[in-house]
Amino acid sequence: MPSLPTLANLIDGAAVAPRSGVWLDVHEPATGAVFARCPASDARDVDAAVAAAQRAAPGWAATPAETRARLLHRLADLVERELDALARLESRDSGKPVALAHSLDIPRAVANLRFFASAITQWASEAHAMDGHALNYTLRQPLGVVACISPWNLPLYLFTWKIAPALAAGNAVVAKPSEITPCTAARLGELAVEAGLPPGVLNIVHGQGPQVGQALVEHAGVKAVSFTGSTKTGAAIAAAAAPHFKKLSLELGGKNPAIVFADADLSDANLDTIVRSGFANQGEICLCGSRLLVQRSIYDAFKQRYLARVRALRVGDPEDAASDLGALVSQAHFDKVTGCIAQARAEGGRVLCGGEAVRLDGRCADGWFVAPTVLEGLPNDAVTNQTEIFGPVVSLIPFDGEDEALALANGTGYGLAASLWTSNLERAHRLSARLEFGIVWINCWLLRDLRTPFGGVKNSGLGREGGVEALRFFTEPKNICLRLS
Ligand code: NAD
Repeated sequence: MPSLPTLANLIDGAAVAPRSGVWLDVHEPATGAVFARCPASDARDVDAAVAAAQRAAPGWAATPAETRARLLHRLADLVERELDALARLESRDSGKPVALAHSLDIPRAVANLRFFASAITQWASEAHAMDGHALNYTLRQPLGVVACISPWNLPLYLFTWKIAPALAAGNAVVAKPSEITPCTAARLGELAVEAGLPPGVLNIVHGQGPQVGQALVEHAGVKAVSFTGSTKTGAAIAAAAAPHFKKLSLELGGKNPAIVFADADLSDANLDTIVRSGFANQGEICLCGSRLLVQRSIYDAFKQRYLARVRALRVGDPEDAASDLGALVSQAHFDKVTGCIAQARAEGGRVLCGGEAVRLDGRCADGWFVAPTVLEGLPNDAVTNQTEIFGPVVSLIPFDGEDEALALANGTGYGLAASLWTSNLERAHRLSARLEFGIVWINCWLLRDLRTPFGGVKNSGLGREGGVEALRFFTEPKNICLRLS
């Protein structure tokens, strides 16, 4: 049997094995088979990575922003050069369709690197003049060594979303991708060396959360933690970081509403977007709308058109260009999602379509596929409508008027993103101001401008990423006051 590809940590510019000498299996969700091995690192590897980052940090901070930007652009060029291979690797590792990785994940990784490379050369700090008596100006200095911890659903997309601003701002980074989808981050590490990033500026330590992530968060040499993942892990990180007063950015889970009013323009294109907002990436996007609130006067007609589209979605081999949905990321996640569907039935939900695993023939016979599932008949406070499922499951909920829609939408512990479908602009603005979410889309979904603040309220997180918010997070403001007279 040919030996499996074996990933390495990137520490001080070199590929190194974990001190433990232990590797984790990496599965291909479409087949269920092990296809690579990922280092099972521990606190010793984290110590080595942080030490390398500490050695590199002063030199990197002193490197002109234009040089840092040039290196990040070079890295973006290399990712772009490998678009096809990285898209295939991302798909193999995560179960998402190759076509989606090719059109969304990898191009967005390139865009993240380019965006922050450019942004840092355009960034300026503030000055506050005191009526001729004094002049204050703010220095925004890099923090030193920072940690970036990312999840499995958008592996390279979110990994670069964190490391790009951290590096652009002049920090040395110790990053930990998800152990479930480590492959493209490992390849990015190799490309960073090829791009000429100085040793120790970007370190990547692979392994499990409690062993590697926790050690990173607790490490005295790490000044800030940028984390994207579940609310439960976010709470553990907040608790571990609090006694050390570390800066924290927490991008967590969601239970997002899509709200459709009777006056919405429900063109085929808009309906397609509403369907995509529930099922893109198998519903494994934190921004997916899993509660679909529909005004009662159009509920039945909308439901028929919506269901026809959802039934037409093809679940299939992620390598097949005709597949709309691929496999769920792991056996554990497959079990969780099918368990949530069983729970929905148990609490009285009607399954309008889907509701079961999909068995494919051929190479995908043992893959973790779930049919796009639409439920109805559950009140907003049902467990199904309150828990993040993070799979291809959408629950339909009717409402009568604007106030009820708002109460239902806000009636969740989460507050990441809402989408609003109406042609009444006054209503759209009125509701947007009252929706308790960090992001509101009006007549669109997942339309992203990288300059905008990104993040959630309530249990969806703390802090904002994106644009200057990210550059602010990864720098420490220092006020200098100069007396003039
Ligand atoms: P997770 O919390 O299980 O893991 C995320 C990362 O944290 C992984 O790298 C993991 O190894 C690490 N980790 C686990 N325990 C840790 C600990 N104790 N200390 C430090 N690190 C630890 O999340 P997941 O299952 O990989 O991702 C899915 C979740 O991510 C969903 O809840 C989803 O909503 C959320 N998410 C949020 C956003 C956002 O922008 N708000 C984006 C994508 C995903």
